[in-house]
Amino acid sequence: MNEEPLLSIIVPCFNEEEVLPETMKVLTGILDSLSETGTISRRSFILFVDDGSSDKTWQLVSERAQTVSSIQGLRLSRNFGHQNALIAGIETVNEAADCVITIDADLQDDARAIPAFIRKYQEGFDVVYGVRKRRDQDTFFKKNSARIFYRLMAKMGVNLVPDHADFRLLSRRSVQEFMRYQEENLFIRGIIPLLSFKSAKVYYDRQKRYAGESKYPLKKMLAFAVDGITSFTIVPIKLVMNIGFLFVLIGGVIGVYALINWFLDHTISGWTSLILSIWMIGGMQLIAVGVIGEYIGKIFTETKKRPRYTIEINTLNDKN
Ligand code: UDP
Ligand code: MG
Repeated sequence: MNEEPLLSIIVPCFNEEEVLPETMKVLTGILDSLSETGTISRRSFILFVDDGSSDKTWQLVSERAQTVSSIQGLRLSRNFGHQNALIAGIETVNEAADCVITIDADLQDDARAIPAFIRKYQEGFDVVYGVRKRRDQDTFFKKNSARIFYRLMAKMGVNLVPDHADFRLLSRRSVQEFMRYQEENLFIRGIIPLLSFKSAKVYYDRQKRYAGESKYPLKKMLAFAVDGITSFTIVPIKLVMNIGFLFVLIGGVIGVYALINWFLDHTISGWTSLILSIWMIGGMQLIAVGVIGEYIGKIFTETKKRPRYTIEINTLNDKN
């Protein structure tokens, strides 16, 4: 790695006209100082991905793209959502960059951490996660819901980096590897740790949104969490099945109790058969649903067509 790495910063934007001028100023400032000191290639650039904005976002981006060489734009035909905007940016840059950094347009992620990302990259890390040091700027609700979410996901076997959102650096090979995940519902935060390339963390203070409003209202946040869970694990299905087994077990216990009462002639006629059928049938139905769920779960994992492996080192490549 003799030449300076070519960096591409990817910025998803959805109706961000209020912050964009400032974001452009901050990011080009950082890019310029990094290339002036010879840390990154002079051909490094910032790619603004307009995710179907209805305000002046694209106008701002296209104007700057014409006058500033380090600013590029990508416009999606409609609003595809934050995650898809990120994927569009990453796939578009693809092999053109040695490393990409994704960052939100609203300056909540501290862009001043970018030089530290690059340092880590040059030390040989393939993935650098931006991790929030503290979340004072977030509301009480957002802080706690996030905490519960991370814990829940960990319980279900999905590894996420706590307090890390989509502010991260990916080396070229991790971009290549990431693009092998062709599933429709791509939960990027869950996929990147799966690659298991050498990773580092850079801590930063999360700022208040510079201007404009959050594009993630509660409804979208919940949908995002549900997507994260259902696109990663079939644990909920297994839960249904286990509840079914539990019901059958309870049915058995109640059955013994009911039968004893019946023998002792303590029951109203009809109660024993009724109570037995309720628990037994209920339990069996849940088990049946769970079994069907297991098969659907298999179909679900098959259709994802996830790569079966990720190569860390291959000496065949080094020797030619
Ligand atoms: N964003 C996007 N498409 C959307 C929603 C959001 O590209 O449909 C962008 C948005 O412009 C911002 C980033 O995703 O750059 C994060 O959104 P936001 O700051 O509103 O989320 P929050 O920080 O409140 O979670
Ligand atoms: Mg934000």
